[in-house]
Amino acid sequence: MPTYVYACKDCEHAFEIVQAFSDDSLTVCPECNGSLRKKFNSVGVVFKGSGFYRTDSRSSSSSTAPAAPAAPAKAPAAAPAKTASSTSA
Ligand SMILES: [Zn+2]
Repeated sequence: MPTYVYACKDCEHAFEIVQAFSDDSLTVCPECNGSLRKKFNSVGVVFKGSGFYRTDSRSSSSSTAPAAPAAPAKAPAAAPAKTASSTSA
């Protein structure tokens, strides 16, 4: 089912909710009963997915830690942060 993201026009409360296609769109803010605005709906896409964050942390760690070129190239993608912290500690 798609995840819909709503934001309140009145109190800026924003939240995600998983709804079926057949469900009606929400229109009332659960926080203040104000008017909701549907920001977008992502069908099958979870924008909080680890893929985005992993890519981001990899690029940032490689740019902020150029002093560790000795890291084995075959290290798994999830390892660099852990290795960096233990090495610097
Ligand atoms: Zn509200």
